[in-house]
Amino acid sequence: MKFDVIVLGGGLAGLSAARDLVAGGADVVVLEARDRVGGRVEQTTLADGRLVQLGGEVIGEFHVAYRALVAELGLTVVPAFPALPGEDTTVLREGRFITDGFGWLSEGDLVEYERAEQAFVNLSREVDPDDPWSHPEASLLDRVSVGDWLRSLDTPPAVLRARNLAMAALGAESIEQTSLLADLRKEAAAGNPGFYDYDRWESHRVAEGSATVALRMADELAHRIRLGTPVTEVAVGASGCSVLSAAGERFESEAVISTLPVAPFRRLKVSGVSGDRLRSLGRQRHALASKVVVAYQDSFWEGNGQNGSAYAETGVMGGTWPQREGIISALVPAERLGPMSATPAAQLEGDLLNEVIGIFGDEASNPEALFIRHWYREPFTEGYITAWRPGDVMAVGPLHGTHDPPFYVAGSDQWVCGYMEGAVRTGRAAARAAMGSNEPVPRAPGR
Ligand SMILES: Cc1cc2nc3c(=O)[nH]c(=O)nc-3n(C[C@H](O)[C@H](O)[C@H](O)COP(=O)(O)OP(=O)(O)OC[C@H]3O[C@@H](n4cnc5c(N)ncnc54)[C@H](O)[C@@H]3O)c2cc1C
Repeated sequence: MKFDVIVLGGGLAGLSAARDLVAGGADVVVLEARDRVGGRVEQTTLADGRLVQLGGEVIGEFHVAYRALVAELGLTVVPAFPALPGEDTTVLREGRFITDGFGWLSEGDLVEYERAEQAFVNLSREVDPDDPWSHPEASLLDRVSVGDWLRSLDTPPAVLRARNLAMAALGAESIEQTSLLADLRKEAAAGNPGFYDYDRWESHRVAEGSATVALRMADELAHRIRLGTPVTEVAVGASGCSVLSAAGERFESEAVISTLPVAPFRRLKVSGVSGDRLRSLGRQRHALASKVVVAYQDSFWEGNGQNGSAYAETGVMGGTWPQREGIISALVPAERLGPMSATPAAQLEGDLLNEVIGIFGDEASNPEALFIRHWYREPFTEGYITAWRPGDVMAVGPLHGTHDPPFYVAGSDQWVCGYMEGAVRTGRAAARAAMGSNEPVPRAPGR
């Protein structure tokens, strides 16, 4: 079978690339390993009709590529949890605090927090998110962890503790395992207002469900998507490309766009692509995480002055946020996956529920449903979002997010730090590059 372009992976990146290629008149096939589209966006429905997101959910104001796509698909963006009433909850070893932000810090520590944040903003202004390697001290900034950098400023331990709590709630690697340059790059991409901020990164969501974005594109692409087709080999050549599936089916094309997450990509046998590029892709990694979702009839926590957002130091969940009416989401960050994996399966749901009760009180005892999704051990994801340990930005190098025609690389992992914005941004850009155009993203027919 011969196509103009073969797209590997049917997540947001692969689908948005394929949709633009089709709109541009190309003959495209999307090869997707799973029996569903969406990849790291996935949803299920409760008995009462409420959609539950098991993967990616929220977006920020500056997520312009994703927002443009959502508008083209006729879907609606609405405010997400940061706009809800009530205060944050923090569960520390010494007790539970219901107070916004890091209100449990002493006044002196809050001053130090702001001082450290301002130093971070000043440094991030020097970093070009599209080219962090051009910073004159890129190597130095990459070698140091955020934790070591904070200590070099004499930041008090309570502030480091607050930053680690924030990272755990995000399901991200700890500040000790995060490259300063990577973190500066990420916040520079957000317009560098400071440390990671929910108002900036997580202010909105798609009312019809974030996985609906993928489903809508799949409806448009219809027969061009081949589900249940894991790819095992890719051969790239100037006179054509060849892709082999696990079932032994061979697909031929002029060009290939790979949108596979970095770990499954490493398992492919790839030829005809430069060693430098394969080494660069091979050095990328993910933060590993599981997601927990607990569904209740209503947002009972609001009656207690809580907004549903929490930071948790005890237990395995790093924190929570309210996904929508009555539904709490949580992530288990990498450093707590060990204790969770060691928990007997029959005990896990009960333990997780007890953690939610510890945050929201006894009213949390009777959920309608509880979902656990171990993304870190899904063979076609093996992670969550991109993680950058000290040294990783330089090791991956400036090939990050670039192409080797007729081999194109897209997917959220090829943007600064992952996210649905990264998937759509790089997917559409790869389609434009494969069509040999620097023009703005074309619009799909009839939209
Ligand atoms: C729990 C969780 C919460 C998240 N929360 C948010 C959030 O709130 N906001 C946000 O913006 N982002 C969030 N993200 C990240 C976001 O969901 C992802 O970055 C984005 O959806 C990735 O899209 P993608 O197309 O790049 O990759 P993927 O969605 O991973 O798509 C890649 C596709 O390739 C397929 N594949 C893999 N191997 C093969 C193979 N060998 N052959 C063929 N196909 C293959 C996979 O099955 C998959 O469908 C979250 C992610 C997770 C897991």
